[in-house]
Amino acid sequence: MHEPHQLKVYKFGGASVKDAAAIRNLVQIVRQYGSDGPLLVVVSAMGKTTNALEELYELAHAGHDYAAPLHTLREFHLSVAAELGIAADFSPDAPGLTELLQLLGDRLATLQPGDYDKQYDQVVSFGELLATCIVARALAAHWLDCRPLLRTDHTWREGRIDWPTTERNLRATLPDLLARGPVVTQGFLGGTASGLTTTLGREGSDYTAAILAYCLGAGSVTIWKDVAGLLNADPKFFADTVRYPEISYQETIEMAYYGASVIHPKTIKPLAVRRIPLLVKSFLDPTAEGTIIHDCRHGLLAPAFIRKAGQCLISFESKDLTFISEENLEVIFGALAQVRLKIHLMQNSAISFSVCTDFSAHRLSTLLALLREQFTIHYNTGLELYTIKNYDAASIRRLTTDRQLLLEQRTRQTFQFVCRGGLNE
Ligand code: ASP
Ligand code: MG
Repeated sequence: MHEPHQLKVYKFGGASVKDAAAIRNLVQIVRQYGSDGPLLVVVSAMGKTTNALEELYELAHAGHDYAAPLHTLREFHLSVAAELGIAADFSPDAPGLTELLQLLGDRLATLQPGDYDKQYDQVVSFGELLATCIVARALAAHWLDCRPLLRTDHTWREGRIDWPTTERNLRATLPDLLARGPVVTQGFLGGTASGLTTTLGREGSDYTAAILAYCLGAGSVTIWKDVAGLLNADPKFFADTVRYPEISYQETIEMAYYGASVIHPKTIKPLAVRRIPLLVKSFLDPTAEGTIIHDCRHGLLAPAFIRKAGQCLISFESKDLTFISEENLEVIFGALAQVRLKIHLMQNSAISFSVCTDFSAHRLSTLLALLREQFTIHYNTGLELYTIKNYDAASIRRLTTDRQLLLEQRTRQTFQFVCRGGLNE
């Protein structure tokens, strides 16, 4: 399907580099499957490091004591490196671990009040920097700092790619490096023209793999996961999952859009545009077939069950009992865009308009401040949004029985509802 001389991009997420044993397994996979041509390896932060960095940042930004969690993070990375026999201050082409940890400490110590999202990127990005330093050493591969190459604008925490610049940068730099052996770089990160770090949105490393593959004309991208491929539901929440052996870009984009957590939603488009196949494989069982996502036609697919937790249902009522009009909606949409709350589902009635979004205390309070004068606003938090794609009667029954639905909507292919959280199957 792809020729041996074509570039392969491998992406390893947090779970696949969560400790020394996991990194040894990664090395094994790369040696066994990735050594027949040029290879670019994209790595996320180890295990739950990004969450740990978010908490650390939150504490430091609020002026609280963060010494203990910083110590934990530091010891964790140093102990994994030690277990792999990697020196902490190493390497001609990569910063040393101790140097990075020192730099992280300095950043935290010199945070300024305000500028929350901008400083978040300068701190939380250390997860990928640390992980790639360790993995590059374990693989004896070249460590590449992607930030000067992967150019974004200044949209902190969700950097938007400057495609022409990024493509030019990558094409000027990577072929020579790749000709000399495997290259390891960071997922999730980018950089602005002025040299500041940006991040691409949580779980954005898949997207990084797609950006690199698109710009370099790769032959394939492989995402190594802890599941056997693209499944019709997350096995953490649903019993009896089935794997799709083959699926189109279109179907996958829609599933990712509705919140299927297996692939970051922005990943598919760049690959589809250049017709680069995306393989989803298990790092726990690399010989298993996995899933291939590419241009294909298939018959009816098994219904996909997608759960989004942490949802909030907000309803806006006009204060004077006038109907919700286009003018009202324009104001509401404008405010939602301004606070960067994405609508996952919406519905209107005569005098009220409801949206389901991710819950963020900070964004919600800004939204209320913007719209409180014009609308009476109610909201419920702690909700879940379920989507069944390619539904049938049995799949709807399976999810809705015993649940009280706060909102539901159905199109020809898709059934969605919002309900209170906490009820797993
Ligand atoms: N480490 C980042 C995160 O946890 C990016 C990623 O894993 O894809 O969100
Ligand atoms: Mg991650």
